[in-house]
Amino acid sequence: VSRPGESPPTHLFLHASQVVTCRAARDAEVLTDAAVAVRDGRILTLGPAAALAAAHPDARRVECAGRVLTPGLIDSHTHAVFGRWRADEYALRARGVPYMEIARRGGGINASVRDLRQRSEDELVELTRQRLAPMLELGTTTVEIKSGYGLGTEDELKMLRVVRRLQEEGPLDLVPTFLGGHETPPDYRDRKDEYVELVAEEMIPAVAAEGLARFCDVFMEPGVFDARQTRRMLEAGLRHGLTPKLHADELEPSGGAELAAALGAASADHLGRVSEAGIRALAGSDTVATLLPATLFFLGRKEYAPARRLLEAGATVALASDFNPGSSPSPSLPLAMTIACSQMGMDPLEALVAATRGGARALRLPHDAGTLSPGAAADLVLWDTADYREIPYRYGVRLARHVWKRGRKVV
Ligand SMILES: [Zn+2]
Repeated sequence: VSRPGESPPTHLFLHASQVVTCRAARDAEVLTDAAVAVRDGRILTLGPAAALAAAHPDARRVECAGRVLTPGLIDSHTHAVFGRWRADEYALRARGVPYMEIARRGGGINASVRDLRQRSEDELVELTRQRLAPMLELGTTTVEIKSGYGLGTEDELKMLRVVRRLQEEGPLDLVPTFLGGHETPPDYRDRKDEYVELVAEEMIPAVAAEGLARFCDVFMEPGVFDARQTRRMLEAGLRHGLTPKLHADELEPSGGAELAAALGAASADHLGRVSEAGIRALAGSDTVATLLPATLFFLGRKEYAPARRLLEAGATVALASDFNPGSSPSPSLPLAMTIACSQMGMDPLEALVAATRGGARALRLPHDAGTLSPGAAADLVLWDTADYREIPYRYGVRLARHVWKRGRKVV
């Protein structure tokens, strides 16, 4: 902490085995004998250790002791505000009870909706705070959080206010997304179009009036919302300054990726069954392909999103946790990286870049976010390994040893 008129101290991160910049998935971005200088919450410079040590003789030294230094992970797709866990459904699924039967018995998204509607904002702040703590400990420094368990104006606003309060608390940066179009609530059964109008005409203006969200997302999937309804909600969001995102082509190819690209969405997420045309549309746009392999793993699916075809077509790929109580209860981005490498053919550097810079692109953060570059926020993770490839490889244990948020050590 510096006093007014005093220049803030420089911290020099020295003796890392590798400094992985995550600017691109290229070997040249894995630096050895490199140091990172941090001042005032930002990266001042990075480069050869001897030169930086000579240039900053008075810097405070942070000893990295042969470990790996990377940017903080950026989790660009979560549903982290919720009430109770749903292990009861998990146990049923494990015994072979199909999702439709679980939903018929009152489970699924609507179970979380009923539960969340009964809880106060304060209670949800407390629950969410407890659930965000492990994310930070696992190396995540920025988290997108969606609404979508309220499915009514007051409850959707309540969820987004929870995100705002936790953003004010820090240290995690939280990016709020309005997801009123997550599902049709039971009180609008057989009146889906009326619900779509409620989202477009009442919820979105209310969310925008309070400045509670940056993005507007919709779950477009056969049986949930179709292309016309999705477009209606996302265009209403655009008119109120909310950038589109889209849950697209998770279980069926339904033109979601193409619609996301056409609307200039920040990302199209899931993409388990994206079509060739969808891949081409994403590759030719600024819309990031956000892959959530931990969800398909947890649901017991054998087919994953075509990560290689997306990368080879030139799409920007992000990896996210999809943290939620139904289909992805793990807050771990390193676990998503493991599944990406083991099941989708991504290499460890591609996975790390997708979980940092890719996530930043999916959230339209400043151009240097999610990377180690001069001027970027000093969000850093020191991993308990000498080789970054062990981050996905040694799965099931926590390798993040220390985490810094804007230059301040928080883990
Ligand atoms: Zn989701």
